[in-house]
Amino acid sequence: MPTMSSWRELIACRLCWKIALAVFALILAVESVILVPSYHRFEQNRLRQIADGAIIATEPTLAASGYGKQREVLARGVAKSIGQYGILGALVAGHDSEMLATSGATAGLKSQLDLAQPMGEGVRRSGDGAYLDVAWPSAEGVKIAVRVDTSRVAGETLAFALRIAGLVALIVMVVTSGTMLVLHRLVLRPVLRLRESSLAAGADPGAADSHAVAPGSRDEIGELIEAHNALLRRVAASKRRDREIAEERARYQSHHEPLTGLPNRAALLEHLRQSRPGPGGTVSLYLVNLLQFRVLNASLGSVRCDELLRSFAARLKQVCGPGDFLAHFGADRFAVARMNGEFAPAKAAEFAERILAGVSRGYDVGDASGGSLAVRIGIAAAAHDLDGNTLVNEAELALARTRAEDASHYEFYSPAFGEEAKSRQALSRDLERAIAAGELFIVLQPKIALLDEGGVRLSGAEVLVRWRHPVRGLVSPAEFIPLAESTGLIVPLGERVLADACSLIRDWLDLHGWAPRLAVNLSARQFSLHDLDLHLEEALALARITPDYLEVEVTESAAMKDVQRTAATLARLRSLGIKVSIDDFGTGYSSLAYLKRFAPDTIKIDKSFIDDIGTDRNSEAICDAILRLGQALGCRVIAEGVENEAQVAFLRRRRCDEVQGYFFGRPVPAAEFEAGWIATRIAA
Ligand code: C2E
Ligand code: CA
Ligand code: CA
Repeated sequence: MPTMSSWRELIACRLCWKIALAVFALILAVESVILVPSYHRFEQNRLRQIADGAIIATEPTLAASGYGKQREVLARGVAKSIGQYGILGALVAGHDSEMLATSGATAGLKSQLDLAQPMGEGVRRSGDGAYLDVAWPSAEGVKIAVRVDTSRVAGETLAFALRIAGLVALIVMVVTSGTMLVLHRLVLRPVLRLRESSLAAGADPGAADSHAVAPGSRDEIGELIEAHNALLRRVAASKRRDREIAEERARYQSHHEPLTGLPNRAALLEHLRQSRPGPGGTVSLYLVNLLQFRVLNASLGSVRCDELLRSFAARLKQVCGPGDFLAHFGADRFAVARMNGEFAPAKAAEFAERILAGVSRGYDVGDASGGSLAVRIGIAAAAHDLDGNTLVNEAELALARTRAEDASHYEFYSPAFGEEAKSRQALSRDLERAIAAGELFIVLQPKIALLDEGGVRLSGAEVLVRWRHPVRGLVSPAEFIPLAESTGLIVPLGERVLADACSLIRDWLDLHGWAPRLAVNLSARQFSLHDLDLHLEEALALARITPDYLEVEVTESAAMKDVQRTAATLARLRSLGIKVSIDDFGTGYSSLAYLKRFAPDTIKIDKSFIDDIGTDRNSEAICDAILRLGQALGCRVIAEGVENEAQVAFLRRRRCDEVQGYFFGRPVPAAEFEAGWIATRIAA
């Protein structure tokens, strides 16, 4: 049963009203189409009945009078019939139209007689419907006309019409209410639920699916509900996806610098919070500042300046190692965070120099600076109890110190750290000057071939660089070569050494008609120069010497940095005719497979194994293995750092091709070497 509220719902339902009214109008139209003719038929039937009643009432009287032959009987009978069956008046006429009888109200009735048809009666109703004149021919040529009262027919017809209309109204009401109830159940309720659900889902699209409508009947409405629910699910899913994407984007934006796409300060602080160094470990922060950024921006325009910053960021990224965290905050500030063991200022300084060398030069800024950018670095370090903000602030303070009068390109937060780095910076500046001023010179150490019959012969010499510092005296290459490597100074330094070696050969050839092969050391950085072969060729050409006077020594670790590239470089050098030697062999991978690819002319057993000959069986075994390896690959083997007779005897027994070391000769300046090894040989 519909409840009070559903009635209210129903009454308020415009759709139901429309449908119900349409049904109502339709039924009414149908009923009226049926009612009007039946109303008419009812009236006609009633008049017919009245006319028939009059005929039936009059005919017996006529028959009894012998159809007017007995006039008296006829007149009596006719008079008697007045008042019966509603007869108001009657006329009977003979076949020659003489009046046989007349009675009651007959005014104008006589003319009706003419309407009596031979085959039936003539009927005429009075204008006001009060009576009906009926005339008909009876037997024996007699005609009769009767006036019958029909005043009650109008009332009866009206009553009939009202009855029908009432019935129709009842039917309409029942049908309409029924329709409304069915509509309410099947249509209105689901429609209202759908409307409610749509409004709720619209107000809360993210959870649209939680406003789904319970599945209903298995009809079009049911299908509509299903489609609606599916739509809500899709809306909710898409909203959720949108929200996730927006959140992800917001997170990304809040953690990245839009220009370079690098993590920003917030991301750096988060990184520092999350990846604390373990006990004993430290994290160091390098705050890299591009100076005169505003000037650059003004002179280049913001578009080119943005480009510059992006390529600056890309270079910085190349300097960074895989574990380093690179961030960009503020247009001209970058930061690199790296995890270390114990903080080593020298190492930090080396990294800062690598950054400076990597990011300072080679930009297209279209001015007199030659594409160089002024860069300063502030360095700070902290242990595992670090606070990111403090670390960044300390690096900022260190960066501020780079602006001081005597400051260098990078500064440490802690003054103690700074001391060590300062001397390094000073050395680096000195070295740069020394290369230009010619403070560097070369020394030569003989390489000795061990001959079969127990003798020895000079087979060449290694070229080693020396630096006579005006204040510090002789500085060891072990100290300044790594510095030169990290600052890039190794390139001009190497060129100097190579040129000196080549001109020495030229001098000896000119003077003595003979010269030993000289081996120059190539550091990793020099070795990876893409035009190394051109450098060497040019140096040879300049001194007018052939390539067989030149040998290069590359350490095993430098060769292994990029195996494919090394193999290609060595192939190019070989094709030029320059000899190649793998230095410090045995300290790195010492892989047979790689060695085969590199195909060097010589491998040089590292001094550490030679040192242990006679004391450590393992080292001897390694020397043995390297010697066999060289013999198998068909390359010569030389032992370096040979200091005593026992080592020579051991190496001779193992058929080592050459030796080098203090036992045969220390590295000495060119004049000394010439006097000791070249002139004597000529003399001998
Ligand atoms: P390296 O190429 O392994 O050079 C051999 C080092 O061992 C030289 O030290 C040499 O003086 C030393 N040595 C030779 N025989 C003996 C010996 O019997 N006993 C001992 N105790 N030492 C011996 P140096 O000259 O101090 O050079 C050190 C390193 O510096 C070289 O190691 C090389 O890696 C690098 N270096 C030296 N000159 C140059 C250069 O012109 N260019 C490049 N790129 N690196 C150089
Ligand atoms: Ca060497
Ligand atoms: Ca060596």
